[in-house]
Amino acid sequence: VPALDAATVRADFPLLGEEVNGHRLVYLDSGATSQKPQAVIDAEVDFLTHTNSAVHRGAHTLAAESTVLFEDAREAVAGFVGAEPEQLVWTSGATAGLNLVAYSLGNASVGRVSIHGSAATRQPVGASARFALKPGDEIVVTEAEHHANLIPWQELAARTGAVLRHIPVHDDGTLDLAAAASLIGDRTRVVAFPHVSNVLGIVNPVAELIGLARDAGALTVMDACQSAPHLPLDLPALGVHLAVFSGHKMLGPYGIGGLYGRADVLEDLPPFLTGGSMITTVTLDEADYLPPPQRFEAGTQPVSQAIGLAAAARYLEGIGMEAAHAHEVALERRMGEGLRSIPGIRLLGDATGAERVGLWAFDVDGVHAHDAGQFLDARGIAVRVGHHCAQPLHRRFGLTATVRASTSVYNTPEDVDIFLDAVSGIRSFFGVSGGTTA
Ligand code: PMP
Repeated sequence: VPALDAATVRADFPLLGEEVNGHRLVYLDSGATSQKPQAVIDAEVDFLTHTNSAVHRGAHTLAAESTVLFEDAREAVAGFVGAEPEQLVWTSGATAGLNLVAYSLGNASVGRVSIHGSAATRQPVGASARFALKPGDEIVVTEAEHHANLIPWQELAARTGAVLRHIPVHDDGTLDLAAAASLIGDRTRVVAFPHVSNVLGIVNPVAELIGLARDAGALTVMDACQSAPHLPLDLPALGVHLAVFSGHKMLGPYGIGGLYGRADVLEDLPPFLTGGSMITTVTLDEADYLPPPQRFEAGTQPVSQAIGLAAAARYLEGIGMEAAHAHEVALERRMGEGLRSIPGIRLLGDATGAERVGLWAFDVDGVHAHDAGQFLDARGIAVRVGHHCAQPLHRRFGLTATVRASTSVYNTPEDVDIFLDAVSGIRSFFGVSGGTTA
């Protein structure tokens, strides 16, 4: 694998050339959102400047050209995760994708919407009945969920009478697989989990989880938000049924994301949102729905965003995801070693030998995360502070907030060194001393 040339990659991102508070920008908040390479900015601008029209409707030249570009984008982004174009549903992001799945399963459960949408058949019927949840059925999540992969399941459980259970994490942040093996069983209908937690940075043993779910006959739903931008992904090979990711975290635009689904699963899922662009025939009383992916894409499509995301996928493929991963692992190790040597820093998820992405969340003894974040910001270093939409996980570690530094392909060892040097000055700046290294 040819190594990634970080300085060259960095130069492709115009924003990284800006100064913040009089300092060279050290952007370590890619876990929240990534910066965009010029190729992505250009792809959106070019489309809006020369082609822009609504897709899948209208007979004019620009509409036809827009449709081709839009469907080419689907093929490119599907290919990025190893999938066929029909297996990729555009959503507005991971949150929308997870809600789509949970609401769709709710619809399958109560029969409000069948996959044919006939008023006469609105009960758990036909293929959709395969996903119907009833009281006592179980939905299993992990203790390390982003709220986006937790609250939709809480709501689905409340609507169907299903019971929500969770796989705990060990003190070192790894998933308790023994607990998973005993939790996932006959009653389990859905197992939802993050490929990589946005707080712990550990690559979860998803093949094992998928295996347990498969043995139990449960549907698997993977949150790939923090893995898709950072490591090679082949979703069909992984055997997961459904997976979501967000465009803006993988060098692409806001307002676009993907829901991957195995063909037979998408085929049997009822829609969540209904309206234009997802139907074949509509009468005043009923409607017939299109096959996937259109069945799940009601309304005017996010065309320029899809084209921008395809440019991002092509850009990442140009780098190579093996090279991207190797680069970020090197940054993550440099950062982890540095942080461990600073007194008073407590790393979350510092599991020996764990496979990771370039992300560390940590507590600074005696200093509130927000103060630490401001201290770093004054030096041009952008990090995220707070609970990172993972309150249950923070509670499990006895914390309410942490500082999180997260990398992407454009970060350099120099970024990490500037960051470490600044972090080592936080506690003395705030008049806190003592403490031991982790
Ligand atoms: N899951 C994880 C693991 C995340 O990190 C995020 C974003 N912080 C989300 C889901 C939600 O993504 P979005 O806000 O783009 O919908």
